[in-house]
Amino acid sequence: MPNDPVEALVLRARTLSAEVLAPRAEQTDAEALWPAEQLQAIAAAGLLGLHVPRRLGGHGLGLAALARIAEELAVGCSSSAMCYAMHCVGTAVIAAKATPFQEQRYLAPIAQGRHITSLALSEPGTGANFYLPRTTFRRTGRGFALQGEKSFVTNGGHADSYVVSAVLRDEQIDPGTFTCLLVDSTAPGLDWGPPWAGFGMRGNSSRRMMLNGATLPPGNLLGTEGDQDWYVFEVVAPYFLVAMSGVYLGLAEAALRTAVSHLQARVHVHTGEPLMAQPLLVEQIADLWRLVARTRQFVAHAAGLWDAGAPGANAALFAAKVDVAEACVSAANSAMMLLGGRGYEEHGKAGRLLRDAQAAHVMGPTTHILKTWLGRTVLGLPPF
Ligand SMILES: Cc1cc2nc3c(=O)[nH]c(=O)nc-3n(C[C@H](O)[C@H](O)[C@H](O)COP(=O)(O)OP(=O)(O)OC[C@H]3O[C@@H](n4cnc5c(N)ncnc54)[C@H](O)[C@@H]3O)c2cc1C
Repeated sequence: MPNDPVEALVLRARTLSAEVLAPRAEQTDAEALWPAEQLQAIAAAGLLGLHVPRRLGGHGLGLAALARIAEELAVGCSSSAMCYAMHCVGTAVIAAKATPFQEQRYLAPIAQGRHITSLALSEPGTGANFYLPRTTFRRTGRGFALQGEKSFVTNGGHADSYVVSAVLRDEQIDPGTFTCLLVDSTAPGLDWGPPWAGFGMRGNSSRRMMLNGATLPPGNLLGTEGDQDWYVFEVVAPYFLVAMSGVYLGLAEAALRTAVSHLQARVHVHTGEPLMAQPLLVEQIADLWRLVARTRQFVAHAAGLWDAGAPGANAALFAAKVDVAEACVSAANSAMMLLGGRGYEEHGKAGRLLRDAQAAHVMGPTTHILKTWLGRTVLGLPPF
C-alpha cells in the first residue's frame, strides 16, 4: 500500500473499478440501472468523503485527487463514476461554507459513507446556462419554500440530499445573485419526473426534479443569500469541470484499453497473426495513447494550478474539459473503428463507450459555454 494518501486512494479506486464496477457496467447500461451496489462499494472504500475536511473524518483533498479517482472509476464504468463525481461536486459546494449544523447533518455522514448528495443546477428553461436558475425560493416562518423545476439531476431519486440553486421570489433576476440550498430527499413537495432513459450514461438516473413548494428548514441555506457568483466560480465550476474531466478521461482510457485488447486477441485465419501485426493499426494505437496521455497531463496541470491557487487556473480548467470532451469522443470513435464489425454489434462495449462519450460535450459546462468563457477570459473580459 503506498504511503502517499492520494496514491492509496487511487489504488483503492482502481481495485474497486476492476472488481466491482467493470463487471456490472454492461448490465447497468442495458437496464439503465442506478448503480446502487457500486456506490455502496465506493462508500465502503471510504471514498465518499474526498472533499470533507479531515477534522470531520474526510480526506480534505482537492481537484487533483478528484481527477485521479474519477478517472480510475470511469475506466470500469462511466455511469458509476459520474454518479460518484456529481456527489463529489455537491459535497464540495456544501463544504465550502458549511455551518456547524451542516457539518454534522451532511458532511460527517458523507465522510462515514452514509450519505450521498448531488447537484441540481440545470433547468429546462435555461438549459446549458446553468448559472441562470429560474427556480424561486421564499422565506416562510419555518425556513424556505422552493418552486420550480430542475433538469438532468444525476442520482435523481437516489441521493440523500441535493444542492439546488434558486433566486429569491419577485427579485429582479440577475446572474450571480442566485442562492444555493440543500434539499433533503424527504422534503415535502419534492417530486421526480419519469425514470432516466438516456442515449448514453444510462446508469445515472439523471431525472427531472419538481419542486412544488418544497419546504426546507432554515439551516439548509448554503452560505449567504445571493453570494452565488462566488459559488459558481470558486466551487461549482472548478469541481464540476474536474469531476467531468476525470470521468471522461477514464472513458478515453477504457476505449484505448478496449482497442489494445482487441488488436492483441483478434487473429485472422489467412495470416495466423493478430491484428497488432498491421503497422497502420499500431500507428493508430500510438496516436490514441498520445491523445489520452497528453490530455491527462493537461487535466492534472489545470487541477494542480487550482489547488495551488495559481493564476491562470480558471482558463486552464475551462480548456481542460473541452480537451477531454474532444479526446474521449475521438478515443471512443477510434475504438469502434479498430474493433471492426464486432465493435458495432448491439450492446457491445465499444458502443456503450461511444454513447457515453457523447455526453461529454453537452454536460455542463458545455463545450460551447466553455469556449465562450475561455475566449472571453483570454481577451480580458469577464467569462459571461
Ligand atoms: C447525462 C447527463 C447528466 C447530467 N447531470 C446533471 C446534474 O447532475 N446536474 C445538473 O445541474 N445538470 C446536469 N446535466 C445537465 C447539463 O449540465 C446541461 O445543462 C444540459 O445537458 C443542457 O441541455 P439542454 O438540452 O437544456 O441544452 P440547451 O441549453 O438547449 O443547449 C443546446 C446547445 O446549445 C448550446 N448553448 C446553449 N446555451 C449557450 C450559450 N449561452 N452559448 C453557447 N452555446 C450555448 C449548448 O452547448 C448545446 O450544445 C446533465 C446532462 C446530461 C446529458
